[in-house]
Amino acid sequence: MSVLVLLYHGVRPDDAQPATTNLQAKHVSQSAFAAQMDWLIGAGYRFIDGDELRWMSKARSLPRGPAVAITFDDGYANNHSCALPVLRPREIPALVFLVGAFVDRGEPLWVDRLEQAVMSARVPELTVDLNGARRTLTLAGAPARKAAESSVRSYCKRLPATARESVLQELFAGLDAPSSPLPALYRPLRWDEIDDLRHAGWTIGSHTMTHTILAGLTAAQARREVGEAKALLEARLGDQCDLFAYPNGLRGDFTEETQRVLAGLGKTCALASVEGRVTRRFEPLAMRRVAVHDRMGLAEFKVRTTGAVGVAKSVKAGLRTAQSALRRRRAG
Ligand SMILES: [Zn+2]
Repeated sequence: MSVLVLLYHGVRPDDAQPATTNLQAKHVSQSAFAAQMDWLIGAGYRFIDGDELRWMSKARSLPRGPAVAITFDDGYANNHSCALPVLRPREIPALVFLVGAFVDRGEPLWVDRLEQAVMSARVPELTVDLNGARRTLTLAGAPARKAAESSVRSYCKRLPATARESVLQELFAGLDAPSSPLPALYRPLRWDEIDDLRHAGWTIGSHTMTHTILAGLTAAQARREVGEAKALLEARLGDQCDLFAYPNGLRGDFTEETQRVLAGLGKTCALASVEGRVTRRFEPLAMRRVAVHDRMGLAEFKVRTTGAVGVAKSVKAGLRTAQSALRRRRAG
């Protein structure tokens, strides 16, 4: 018995996207997303919502039968423009974990600003302090730019928000990138769109105030990151905000101390990005998920999402096919 929790970030329109965007493949094409939902429906999954995740966490129990939760991290507007039109007609609920500063102040996510600045830089190379060492990264050609973006991103991920911002500001100044607005793909949800999602049965959770990895912070800083986002969402939505998703969310991105901070702020359920299903002995404050990205074909999606339940189902289906073939042979 296990529950599958899928981790998405965004759903993009099907038409071709500029090669300089979606480098991390975080935004899945709308047709692929629809095919994934239809496959889950065909495989007999029941879609669970925030209330059921809450129940699971409190009861430390799992529902019977194959169940899946669809979750989105960060709060991109395309959750409303591209994901909702797929989910609503299929009556599939979802959960979205919002970054406070992104949705409330419209501050673009720093990873998206970094991507745009590096990909559109008008300088041939970039000199930057990474992990205390001065490094020069070449920007000759798209692969080199992607590699440079990836090095800077990994380094900045580990920094608290203010330190990260000063590194980025220095970097942006050196990159001489045109100051054009970010692509529509990276726009945050507006509050009226968030209301639409709630009316469609979505659950709203929090994903910190500035998308900073909590393990690198002191307990007081972590409490501020989580507490400010919680206060903002509760004031805006008039509802308790007890569901949470960790920024980055891999092993090492949160600690026992982080979990104590979350519990102290009334979080009942926290989702990680550690790959796997939620199984019988799950930790409510470190629930596993399976991340889905735009480079994943339907075949890979099936393999990644098929746990014991899926294997048993496909073995059963195989047996049925073999039996009917046998019957046909006997009859013939
Ligand atoms: Zn995130």
